[in-house]
Amino acid sequence: MTDLILKPGKERSVLRRHPWIFAGSVDRLEGRARPGDTVLVKDADGRALARAAWSPESQIRARVWTFDCDQSVDHAFIKRSVAASVARRATHPWLAGQDGVRLIHGESDGLPGVIADRFGPVVVVQLTSAGADKWREAIVAGLVQATGCSTVYERSDSDVRKLEGLGPVTGLAHGELPATLSIVENGVRMEVDVVGGHKTGFYLDQRDNRLLTGQLSAGRDVLNCFCYTGGFSLQALAGGAKSVISIDSSGPALLTAARNLALNPQLDASRAEWREDDVFQALRGFKAEGRKFDLIVLDPPKFAPSAAHAERAARAYKDINLLGFRLLNPGGILMTYSCSGGIGQELFQKIVAGAAADVGVEARILHRLSAAPDHPIGLAVPEGEYLKGLACQI
Ligand code: SAH
Repeated sequence: MTDLILKPGKERSVLRRHPWIFAGSVDRLEGRARPGDTVLVKDADGRALARAAWSPESQIRARVWTFDCDQSVDHAFIKRSVAASVARRATHPWLAGQDGVRLIHGESDGLPGVIADRFGPVVVVQLTSAGADKWREAIVAGLVQATGCSTVYERSDSDVRKLEGLGPVTGLAHGELPATLSIVENGVRMEVDVVGGHKTGFYLDQRDNRLLTGQLSAGRDVLNCFCYTGGFSLQALAGGAKSVISIDSSGPALLTAARNLALNPQLDASRAEWREDDVFQALRGFKAEGRKFDLIVLDPPKFAPSAAHAERAARAYKDINLLGFRLLNPGGILMTYSCSGGIGQELFQKIVAGAAADVGVEARILHRLSAAPDHPIGLAVPEGEYLKGLACQI
């Protein structure tokens, strides 16, 4: 067994059960390890603290699999961890009956670098760390066994793999893909393109916020910005919106959105309008036309992939929220999100408050919004809290 020896004092975060060991904390490796191999993490006095996956290319030089050093990290251990993560979803009432569920949420589920989303009979897996990549077979076998799903599709094409020295891996890991795949989310059927869609195919993290949007939509004129395949739009229609305008710059996403609407004949399609456009431009256009809305959803892509981009991202968030507040009718609600890890909840709220102040509206927070409970945040891993949102009424 190869030992990773920490510099003096650098054991503190490991003792708090934080799973990342940064390059600057590593004193030396005693023995050899290839990328993804398990190393025994020890403090400067030689006390064993954790077993972790070695990742020589990454600034996060090791990711902890277990803080129990008596535990060996092998095929059976990985399968047990996968099964435990899947089992935790089984008992949450909000997840009961959902056929789109995140089964494994990386560090917060004790499986660093492993994401798994279930869409009906298909599980999509995304491996983003050297350790996760090494245990692919055990992870896939564990998922098949724990879920009874016949198909596992891999979408390890995230850019963050580059930081670990890994290239993209995509394709079937087990079974066959069905010709079409859809899930029902709170009464609305949604197509899921696990091969060509964003990330794993569908943004499950916004499930509860989409439902809340529906509940706030009755009789309202709704504007859904960055609509992707129309998740918020269809929930708004289901909730009785008077009209829903949805904007996205992606033509393929909008085609899927239109198909999704057709999959739901219970919804009044005549109330929906799809626009392929840049949101910033479209909102300025509405401003020029004097258009107003009662409920606006802003769910932009990650403007700040890391803290280094935070400043430019903050400007983009400010801009878009300014435009949002300007387009609200009196009493209107802005549901605004950031999924940037580099922008914390406090900073995001400051940005939104600044936007309201600049527009000259008095706004209040009705709801603080976060990812659905199948995207838990490990108490020891606050970095896991990437999605934050505010529902603000003026
Ligand atoms: N709200 C969606 C997820 C949004 S993902 C859901 O619930 O499923 C972000 C979306 O923003 C993507 O679909 C992407 O195509 C779109 N996008 C990115 N930049 C854009 C821009 N400048 N204008 C319009 N759409 C943009």
